[in-house]
Amino acid sequence: MSAVSLPPAPGSQERRAYATAQKVHPRKVSGKYRSLKWWAMTLLLAYWHLAPLIRWDRGPGAPGQAILADMAGRRAYFFFVEIWPQEVYYLTGLLVVAAISLFLMTALAGRVWCGFLCWQTVYTDLFVLVERLVIGDRNARIAFDHKPLGVGKIARKAAVNLIWLMIAAACGISFTLYFGDAFEQLHDIFTGNASAATYGAIIVVGGFCFLLAGYAREQVCIYMCPYGRFQSAMFDEHSLIISYEAWRGEARGPAPADRNFAGRGHCVDCLACVQVCPTGIDIRNGNQLACIGCGLCIDACNAVMDRFGLPRGLVSYDSTANLAARGAGGVARIRLIRPRTLIYGAIVLLVGSVMAVRLVSRPDTTVNILHERAPLFVQMSDGTIRNGYAYKVLNMSSENRSYSLTLAGIEGATMDVVGGASRATTLQLEVARDSVGTFQIFVSSQPDRLTEKKVPLNFILTGPTRTVVSDTLFAGP
Ligand code: SF4
Ligand code: SF4
Repeated sequence: MSAVSLPPAPGSQERRAYATAQKVHPRKVSGKYRSLKWWAMTLLLAYWHLAPLIRWDRGPGAPGQAILADMAGRRAYFFFVEIWPQEVYYLTGLLVVAAISLFLMTALAGRVWCGFLCWQTVYTDLFVLVERLVIGDRNARIAFDHKPLGVGKIARKAAVNLIWLMIAAACGISFTLYFGDAFEQLHDIFTGNASAATYGAIIVVGGFCFLLAGYAREQVCIYMCPYGRFQSAMFDEHSLIISYEAWRGEARGPAPADRNFAGRGHCVDCLACVQVCPTGIDIRNGNQLACIGCGLCIDACNAVMDRFGLPRGLVSYDSTANLAARGAGGVARIRLIRPRTLIYGAIVLLVGSVMAVRLVSRPDTTVNILHERAPLFVQMSDGTIRNGYAYKVLNMSSENRSYSLTLAGIEGATMDVVGGASRATTLQLEVARDSVGTFQIFVSSQPDRLTEKKVPLNFILTGPTRTVVSDTLFAGP
């Protein structure tokens, strides 16, 4: 319930700034938007709970789960895509695409994310459904709240909370399945063999699900969610929003007994639109922050209009430009292509394309090299100058590989690898499939080959599919 200023309580000196939150009991409604919401809920919940169970063959020794964030193996998998820790920029790109897609969605269709797709909406809908099945629809739930505490009330409250807890636990369990083999995780969780971190994650995720969808509900959308606060910046007069057509609804009043609406507005002040609203607002007061764009008030009002033989759409899903046009007797039209939507669409397309191209063309071998700084160089007893390097080879292919490493830039320079060859001009580096090979390499040079204090040096790694040249420096006295 939204906060409102209150006058001083009668007989009291106290001025209260906020009303006590009233519990919202949305009424059952049916119609196009309610059906869409059921579909969205079903698909999203099915995805959340079933996606970790999908298998994907990546060959022997590799995880067989299609969607997996393998924290221990420091790898993320999405079907054929495998992301290494060094490629975390893909995550950045994904977040940019997701954020701009949300802006685009909002500019085109208003708060469709909030009303249909957000997890808070999905779980709140589910939790309200449980209340309705156990206690009853809106009036029964209001009466139930006012009933004195007794065995029956306690039993029903316990039943509702128990079912909520089971749903929340399922939510938390499914969350953990994305971080390890889902079937093994399920077995471990239910036999008490899962890690403390797994049980902790279930408690935290499930606990938040229980509290936010069971008890906080619309308060999350109105007070806690930042998106609701800035989404108006993404709207323009052509964005689709939920609106009450005051020009035809007013002057409102109780339905006339003879059903003659001549000379008056079509709103019969039945409050059906308010009673079905999950945030408890009255859309007839205009577009509000608390409106999550779920469209249930449209379904409710359309049913009322049908009952009185009036045209549907007194509460509609339309743009303010169209509302104004219709109010003035003009023609309404939906404008999807606008500068704002074109810019958002172009950014999504650009970032998405760059990511896709980078993904399909990325090399299967990459190299990291780090020049040791302490000490920068060492002069050996035979007079040669030696520099140390930490050299890492990422073999992202599915086969074990042998790479050959040579140097360029300093004539006659040789390499020693810890645990391997010494004074060599070419090294053979073996790196297992899907792993990082780390090598400690010392490069030695005669001092008279060094023309400056820091001389450019190239490490040249040659593998079966590509050659990687790494630029670094060789330091001398
Ligand atoms: S006013 Fe209508 S669209 Fe907005 S939250 Fe309430 S029921 Fe949903
Ligand atoms: S449901 Fe329609 S007719 Fe009833 S109060 Fe709301 S806007 Fe008016």
